[in-house]
Amino acid sequence: MESSSEHLSISVDVSEGISTNYQRIVEHTLGSLFRNHCLVDQPISLHLTLKENEEAILVSSTATDRYSKSRFDWDDLFADGLIIKNDNGSNDYISTIVYLVNYLQEYGAKPHDSLGRFGFSQSLQYNFNCVEENLVLSHFRRLVTEFNINGVRWKQQSSRIFVSHDIDTIHGGLLQDGFYALKKGRFDILLQLLWNEAMARPAWFNLDRIMDITSEYDVKSTFFWLVNQHRVEIEGRSLRNSDYDLKNRKVAEQIDRIKNRGFEIGLHKSLSETNFSEEMGHLALDHRSNRNHFLKLSVPAHFDALDAFEVEIDFSMGFAEHFGFRNSYGLPYRPFHPVKGRAFECLMVPLNVMDTTNWTYMKLPKSEMQDLIVSFIEKNKNDAVLSILWHNNYFSELKYNGYLDVYKFVLDYCRQTGLTGITQSEILADY
Ligand SMILES: [Zn+2]
Repeated sequence: MESSSEHLSISVDVSEGISTNYQRIVEHTLGSLFRNHCLVDQPISLHLTLKENEEAILVSSTATDRYSKSRFDWDDLFADGLIIKNDNGSNDYISTIVYLVNYLQEYGAKPHDSLGRFGFSQSLQYNFNCVEENLVLSHFRRLVTEFNINGVRWKQQSSRIFVSHDIDTIHGGLLQDGFYALKKGRFDILLQLLWNEAMARPAWFNLDRIMDITSEYDVKSTFFWLVNQHRVEIEGRSLRNSDYDLKNRKVAEQIDRIKNRGFEIGLHKSLSETNFSEEMGHLALDHRSNRNHFLKLSVPAHFDALDAFEVEIDFSMGFAEHFGFRNSYGLPYRPFHPVKGRAFECLMVPLNVMDTTNWTYMKLPKSEMQDLIVSFIEKNKNDAVLSILWHNNYFSELKYNGYLDVYKFVLDYCRQTGLTGITQSEILADY
């Protein structure tokens, strides 16, 4: 008989003292993991218990108690290290997996900055120095092995890469590259920039070139567009949405060329108060897909908003300050709301690597940044969709000189390692 994970059935029942809400999050979480990683021959049923019992899987009374009280800070749950412990000192893989993959550490966390974001330094991943580890998968493998869950075979799958570009600025090149040229005494470059701008060919309107370069590595990337231009005041800071007009004929023609070449587009949700539907109405989207500008979001408000406006797929869940996994997991996933007791509809595809992380926060020399990205990909060359963001301005050889070489190096490394590209359409079909 053909075994399959498509129609996989998993049921979880629980002993006294464990809430149905906890039972549901476990069923949803493990069901997703079995589907993503296993071929299963028979229905799986698991029994969870708070008291030692040979037939059942022990879970921590502290974890289930905190869960029912909606207390989600990580520091006392993970007091003994990177895994939640049962009352008898054994490992509670299930509570650990549930906690990490559903972003529970972010529920009730104090905003870290003026944009209301959850900061990397607040996270368990920072404090245990494990942001590059796919902990959820390694705990899941140990769970299946240690508890002899029958009829399970592991899928062998190379990771795939999702490459994208947030289009924040098209006209910034004149000022920013121009200033760079001026500092270097390169008046010839400055004149060229002025000429291009006057001819309506701004330097950072380079998306055809980005598609040419990316195509050399057999990857089709996604371009995320801002539909709002005006500045927004947030806690005394004046922050920019875009510096281009989506209705401009050249911009509209560019979007057509992107689609005609088999590349894709999505919304880059602005900082303004407008909602997803209002903004998406300005773009001819094939999928209701999004990434938030500045990764400005908080959990669970962001997940609620995505569902309220029927966004299908979101690419915002990354740490701005570091490469890696914000929920310690490598594949697209629909998180579960621990209080409302149901899974969100929108598929989250976490963001793992971006250029501005280095420019703004890490400030490493380009060669070190390149090595760091490659070692992260090497560590996760199986069982992940790795999402890489390179803004269009980082393809310039002036102010952001060197970033294009890193981009090419990373894509070349992926191709040589056998990691192929994946588009948002393919992600939606597969997950
Ligand atoms: Zn942006």
